[in-house]
Amino acid sequence: MTLTNASDDDGGIRLAAADAGLLEVSIRSAGLKVTAPRLAVLRALTDRPHSNADALFGAVRTDLPGTSLQAVYGVLASFTAAGLVRKIEPAGSPALFERRVGDNHHHIVCTRCSVVHDVDCAVGHAPCLTPADVLGFDVRAAEVIYWGLCAQCQLDTTSRPAEHTDTIHP
Ligand SMILES: [Zn+2]
Ligand SMILES: [Zn+2]
Repeated sequence: MTLTNASDDDGGIRLAAADAGLLEVSIRSAGLKVTAPRLAVLRALTDRPHSNADALFGAVRTDLPGTSLQAVYGVLASFTAAGLVRKIEPAGSPALFERRVGDNHHHIVCTRCSVVHDVDCAVGHAPCLTPADVLGFDVRAAEVIYWGLCAQCQLDTTSRPAEHTDTIHP
């Protein structure tokens, strides 16, 4: 048996190809067919975790002029169903998507600017994650969303108080 490494003439596009190759492997190993819209959406999601469908559509529409928001929704639905992508739905926000799956991590959301960050699974004893009665369910996951003001919004609100008029300094 002979190995042929001779036709190695694509050095210039190696990096881009490797990147696309990784995305293709991810899509295939989730049991999905690789298509241009799926590649584009997965790439956009890699760069922008916690994006909603609108934002992802905005990111892929230049690369895929023929695509539609509906097509992006379809891609996200197939990714979510295949376990390739995780969908999170903070109250008052459109559904957000991310590639970090399977580690039961949680999210911290700013009540003012809606920025979302990952936080690792709650440390220490977290009794709220163990229901008193599982009602016959086989519990697979518990979702925690921490709400608060992000560091930037704390700075913004202390430098120019907008809504609170109870502490006015003359
Ligand atoms: Zn904020
Ligand atoms: Zn996350």
